[in-house]
Amino acid sequence: MKRELTCVCGTISPNELGFCQSHEHLAISKGRSWEIDSNLCIDNVEKSILEARLYRQAGGSTILDAQPGGCNRMTEELAEISKKSGVNIMAATGFHKLCFYYNNHWIFSRPQEEIAEFFIRELTEGMFIDADIEFAKTQITSKAGFIKTALDSVNLTSEYQRLFLAASDAARITKRSIMIHVEKGSDPLKLLDFLAKNGNEPKRLIFCHLDRACTDSDILLSILKEGAFLEFDTIGRFKYHDDQTEAALFRKLAEAGFENQLLFSLDTTRARLKAYTLGAIGLDYLVNTFLKVLQRSGITRNQIHKFSHENVLHALL
Ligand SMILES: [Zn+2]
Repeated sequence: MKRELTCVCGTISPNELGFCQSHEHLAISKGRSWEIDSNLCIDNVEKSILEARLYRQAGGSTILDAQPGGCNRMTEELAEISKKSGVNIMAATGFHKLCFYYNNHWIFSRPQEEIAEFFIRELTEGMFIDADIEFAKTQITSKAGFIKTALDSVNLTSEYQRLFLAASDAARITKRSIMIHVEKGSDPLKLLDFLAKNGNEPKRLIFCHLDRACTDSDILLSILKEGAFLEFDTIGRFKYHDDQTEAALFRKLAEAGFENQLLFSLDTTRARLKAYTLGAIGLDYLVNTFLKVLQRSGITRNQIHKFSHENVLHALL
């Protein structure tokens, strides 16, 4: 029997998933990441509800919210946004790039075992709402559904190894998937090997942003051949490339036989959400605009259904 999917308002069955964008951000409070980039703050619940409703009206049903606990994830607000918009939101535990944490954050000082325990408790008992600097104390009943991690350009330094091993342990124990933010200049294949050696099957790994973080398609194909998933979200982000270029990448990898391992999303920040920024593309852009570009490039409806439904289930269950 298939497992259920853990969302912030409770579990849903696989057939309740619907159309899913696999890497979004709908609620981030002001923290270190906001100091680095003012677009990394999405803290107006009413606006986020409006944005989620736009997505719902366009036909969207579920999103994976990729802000990990302890890194300005607005946990209770995610549940409120889900409830008031009707969009299923699956939240993340895990860790982000270390530049997004203040120097006195517990992520730098807690041992691997305690960090793994934090991830496991967020996945199995409930998420913590007070973990952004001090170590977590207060849990709510909403649980995280997957483990978000980040591979920085410094790759597997001892500090990152400790965190990836904690994520690896938590994923094995809870049988949850690991999502990996991949930074330009990093070595995702080396990480895949590292995690595989620690018992994490590649088919439980989702590598994100490689459509802008990596221009070497041999690397993309090598990751896919190992069985991992690729999530692409350089969509409506014209400073990187146009949507036709993005669609051509989907087509190329689908034609190479990997249509069952591709996911898509928008990886929204404040600057790309309509409710926050005048003239932004909005959370409904993928459904309302990019799907047509994909179809014009030769991607079939059946393949789109895989990217938005089946592949998400296979990556998570
Ligand atoms: Zn992201």
